[in-house]
Amino acid sequence: VVDVARTAPRSAGIELGLRTPAAVDVFTRILTHGPIGRLEAGRQTGLTAGAVTRAVAPLIARGLIREDSPNSPARGRPIAPLRIDGTAAHAIGVKVTEDAAFGVVTTLTADVVDRESVELDPHSYDAVIDAVAALVRRLRDRSAPGSALLGLGVTVSGDVDGEAGIVRDSPLLGWREAHLGARLAGELDLQVVVENDVRALAYAEQWFGVGRDADSFAIMTIGAGIGCGLYVNGGVVEGSFGVAGEIGHLPLADPAARCVCGRSGCVEAVASTGAIVEAVRAAHGERSLELGDAIRLAHTGDAAAVAAFDGAGRAIGAALAAMVNLVGPEIVLVAGEGVAEFDLYEQRIREEFEAHAFGSAARCELRLTSHTFDDWARGAAVALIRSRVRRGV
Ligand SMILES: [Zn+2]
Repeated sequence: VVDVARTAPRSAGIELGLRTPAAVDVFTRILTHGPIGRLEAGRQTGLTAGAVTRAVAPLIARGLIREDSPNSPARGRPIAPLRIDGTAAHAIGVKVTEDAAFGVVTTLTADVVDRESVELDPHSYDAVIDAVAALVRRLRDRSAPGSALLGLGVTVSGDVDGEAGIVRDSPLLGWREAHLGARLAGELDLQVVVENDVRALAYAEQWFGVGRDADSFAIMTIGAGIGCGLYVNGGVVEGSFGVAGEIGHLPLADPAARCVCGRSGCVEAVASTGAIVEAVRAAHGERSLELGDAIRLAHTGDAAAVAAFDGAGRAIGAALAAMVNLVGPEIVLVAGEGVAEFDLYEQRIREEFEAHAFGSAARCELRLTSHTFDDWARGAAVALIRSRVRRGV
């Protein structure tokens, strides 16, 4: 797809109005670590209590920040904690996959308040734009009145230039140089942010999840693709050219295995759900076999299905060890799209990881969690919230 913007993005909906760097810092701190008192907010941002007060006063007046009634600590002066009023603004997040779009409405504090999904025709870019725009309009009309809407975050897999709102290359979707951000902004008269789907999940964890307490973490996603978002030294790794953490394309699998990216031997070529299904189909000569069938077969001990999940687990475990040896994160979240099949390869993932993790890097905590398409869409909403807050607008 080569798609040229028809309309420049316009500004509509609520303005955050964070007019100084101090206001951005304090607001971000309260958003991600609130409720916190003024002294603590100042300590965490390096500002004086007076500077914190000057930064938050206009935001309290506009209803973005609320001040709780003072509590009475055992020692010292009473503290009136500051918190973001999540309902003061909303964001819409949409994750586009090859056959469906998943949308959510979240509060400013990333709580999901509404959701809807639509099937997509993966072969028509224009039809995808129309379906996503219609989905966003329905969500907006139902749950996010225009006056309080910050905008729309959209995520896709692949190489995404978030600044420019351009999908450079998404092999799963078959899109190249798609000016998705400007196109949707024109259609919807909304601020739109486009982001890589896994990086957006990392932003969500950074601000509203494990990143609140961990100095570094990685989130690895397992499903139709194998992805990895990295958070190191206070920031999500974005890559100088927009690509980083492409763990699914580490060449750790059988060199004969063909990957959707066009290369061979990638982890994804044996460990994506599509690759697992394909292996079981080939073994049984049954083209109509689906993921659910492969899972059922593996549970009944079918040799080909068991081997496919074992191979996937080994490749994922090896990729995890490679990433942990390189980056050394404190926590790794392994987020699986289908919880159902996790039991089929969790043991293999852990075995292979432990076999290859080097020295103290192996001390990192592996947390396997289930993961839904709502979580992907919430990540898209957080990408929008983060972009607006960081720009202060
Ligand atoms: Zn690949």
